[in-house]
Amino acid sequence: MKTLAMKTLADIFAQDQAIDLLCRAHRSNRLPHGLIFSGPIGIGKATTAAALGTLFLCPNPTLPQDERKFPLPCGHCDSCRLCASEKIAHPDFHIIYKELIRYHDKTGKSKGINLAIDVVRAELIEPAAHKPTLGHGKVFIIEQADTMTPAAQNALLKTLEEPPGRSLIILLTDQPTSLLPTIRSRCQLIPFSPLPAETIQQELLRRHIDPSLAAEAAQWAEGSLGTALQWIEADLLTPARQVRQFIDQYLAGRSPDADLPGWFKKAAEHYAEHQLKRDKLASKDQATREALNLYLRLAAQPLRQQLRTESNPARLERLCQAIDALARTADDLDANVNISLAFQYLVSTLQRQFLPSTG
Ligand SMILES: [Zn+2]
Repeated sequence: MKTLAMKTLADIFAQDQAIDLLCRAHRSNRLPHGLIFSGPIGIGKATTAAALGTLFLCPNPTLPQDERKFPLPCGHCDSCRLCASEKIAHPDFHIIYKELIRYHDKTGKSKGINLAIDVVRAELIEPAAHKPTLGHGKVFIIEQADTMTPAAQNALLKTLEEPPGRSLIILLTDQPTSLLPTIRSRCQLIPFSPLPAETIQQELLRRHIDPSLAAEAAQWAEGSLGTALQWIEADLLTPARQVRQFIDQYLAGRSPDADLPGWFKKAAEHYAEHQLKRDKLASKDQATREALNLYLRLAAQPLRQQLRTESNPARLERLCQAIDALARTADDLDANVNISLAFQYLVSTLQRQFLPSTG
């Protein structure tokens, strides 16, 4: 019997608590219709959702009595075969992701910020009402579920409460509190934890990444192995180092030795080009904004670190103002504010906080 190259719950890296919760619920036949996988991006939520979905759809899973063993899909039925293909090709396995917005937006003007009601209706609510093609149920995974508009979330409530037929709906999010309370109360929350930096570093070394790169990526990846790998692959460590340098210069009361709005723009374009090479369908504007968000998060890291040890109240206030300004710039980008305007505002705030003489 040929074993397929699919990920199972036994393969998920360093998320024992989440996997244990899921295995227990599955073993006792109490897997709810609706699940929320919460935690930072790149720590295994999507891989776990794919593994659980494959198990859910397999008509002949192995269900060991021994609690230390994982329930596993059979690995050779039609359903398992379709789930194992690289882009899951199973007709009853639906993944709702942000890029579908462009597909459903007939004007073509969508910036792809929010999952609107028509996307959720066409990709989830309507298909959920039909009989499954292979007959063993349906799986829906909503990526970045917090980007669903309130109208989309409200439209989803009925299907979550009482799905027609055997269904599993998994919402992935790094911001569970952005989901409506009515959605949260209808789902079981499965928290995924950020990984310790040492765990990420060891895993990178196991994948033959250069030791000094591995150490640096692990330190700044905010507990996400996926992020660390992405940074190494997209060569993001150099700009990450520069962002930190700029902030360190501000913290030392000096003006950074670069035109910051220009630097951010160039670094983001470089990242966007890399993303476009990887995914021809990606939107350049979207990738640029994604990169800017990433660099803003990076800029906040040294400020947060300083916040933990700072005791001078005036200095604390300045650090908080600077962190707020970075968060506000990220919000402005989400709201499609002109990029250079958003960054001019940011730079003037940072200058006012750290270089009072020039402000
Ligand atoms: Zn199977």
